[in-house]
Amino acid sequence: MYETKPMAPTDRHATPPATTALAHALSAAERGLAVFPLSRTKFPALRSPHHDDPVPTPCRGECGSFGHGVYDASSDPHQVRALFAAAPRATGYGIACGVPPYHLIGVDVDTKPGSTSSAALRELALRHLFSIPPTLVVITPSDGRHLWLSGPAGVAVPNSVSRLAPGIDIRGAGGYLVGPGSVTMHGVYRTAPGTGHLPPAPCPSALLRLLLPPPPSRRHARPGPDDQRGAGLVHFVRAAHQGQRNTRLFWAACRAHENGLGATLTTQLIAAALHTGLTEREARATIASAARLTATRSRA
Ligand SMILES: [Zn+2]
Repeated sequence: MYETKPMAPTDRHATPPATTALAHALSAAERGLAVFPLSRTKFPALRSPHHDDPVPTPCRGECGSFGHGVYDASSDPHQVRALFAAAPRATGYGIACGVPPYHLIGVDVDTKPGSTSSAALRELALRHLFSIPPTLVVITPSDGRHLWLSGPAGVAVPNSVSRLAPGIDIRGAGGYLVGPGSVTMHGVYRTAPGTGHLPPAPCPSALLRLLLPPPPSRRHARPGPDDQRGAGLVHFVRAAHQGQRNTRLFWAACRAHENGLGATLTTQLIAAALHTGLTEREARATIASAARLTATRSRA
């Protein structure tokens, strides 16, 4: 994705694009964000030094050269200047996710007219009892929104596409966000009005849990945190009053299925539901509908 064609000259902008991109990148670096130059295609502007290697090199910058994409990112102004000096055709900059001090998590929501992603995010927030705190939001040229959130140290949030909900992508460890002020072939990235001064807000823990699926190897592991979580869900159902037993069972079954505990917990959830006075038939029907809903939601 290295550009070989020179930038088209523009009359209106006396400042070379790379200078403008550098200025924006430096101001992001000043806020502690690790940045690196991007080309108009939104890909790293610097060609890999291992480009011509016959065998792909798993180097993440250990060789000491620039050209390792997000692994070039730095918040040191001298390093940032050096990166942009090596990338005179850069028109934008990327911001590395998942690195100190913010451990940035990007929630990329498609907000084009007709998209249901914003509604899907609101629905997730309602179902999982979290709210998106005031935070910096970047508007993309395709009318998407990048919500910047801060994750806890030592937790690697994986990158994902439409896993949380259709049209919602997550940028986490090893990923990057196009910084505000960047110019791409599709247009300019800007901060949403009134959010540019905000730091990335801490990611709500309920949302963070949704972003951290248990790895497959842990799903059937026992004993472990999953078992404790499972016990919590069973207790939650057992302790239900008459008016809430079906909604509680439904909620617990959804969480169980989302976490790969559906099959493991079915018998215990039914037993807990019987304890509250539900019939086995009612309990099975509720658990089955939770399983169906969860399966639909988790499909990309
Ligand atoms: Zn290298």
